Amino acid sequence: MLGFFAIIVPLAVAVAVAAYILFPWIVRNRLRRLFVREARRSPCVCLTFDDGPDPQVTPQVLDVLASANVRATFFLVARKAVQHPEIVAGIRQAGHEIGEHGFRHAHPWRTWSPAAWSEHVRARNALRAMVGEQQELAFRPPFGKLNLLTWLYTRRFQKRVVFWTLDPRDYEQTDPERLADDLLERMRPGAVVLLHDGNAKTLHETPVLVGALQRLVRSPKAREFEFATVSEALSMPALRPPRQQPDCR
Ligand SMILES: [Zn+2]
Repeated sequence: MLGFFAIIVPLAVAVAVAAYILFPWIVRNRLRRLFVREARRSPCVCLTFDDGPDPQVTPQVLDVLASANVRATFFLVARKAVQHPEIVAGIRQAGHEIGEHGFRHAHPWRTWSPAAWSEHVRARNALRAMVGEQQELAFRPPFGKLNLLTWLYTRRFQKRVVFWTLDPRDYEQTDPERLADDLLERMRPGAVVLLHDGNAKTLHETPVLVGALQRLVRSPKAREFEFATVSEALSMPALRPPRQQPDCR
């Protein structure tokens, strides 16, 4: 009997992990490849900001973007959004796109049912109530990872899953000039840039992101780019039929 359990228990754990993490990981990698391929066809550059809104950082980011007439996409942590509705309204009024990034930004691999499901349903409900749209908001999974329930959530609500093509790891940077120059060096039409406006450590102690953005949008090279929101710039063949070439304006 002991031998039976010695086989069954590890087997059951292996099947559970495979179903909950490994299968979604394979799906996620396929979605990511499709996303990158589609993004690179776009003539636009998308700046995306995760983990906000933050009362210190996000208004500064909005000011810099407004100064250069650049529109971007903000993947909001819904719990923070509920705490700062005025910032969410500011993002909307400036013409930026709002996307979902979980309710608490829980790590998909460390969150188990039913919390994993409610993490995203709560975020969806909260943000839709604030944004007041019937259209499904774009979805960027926290940490760029899916679990089984996150994947089912994207299927249930036909979510556009948005990854990125360029990650400067802004949260690790200490020099705004270096971050801006790195971005300018690597940016191409079709780039979807991953940035963070909710990382208190990086952004409160040293306003690296804001300084880098100021340098970025003022540079002659950036003026050659057409900046657009993710939904304007991209179509997602895995989740919806390809659209016509987007108009970046
Ligand atoms: Zn995040």
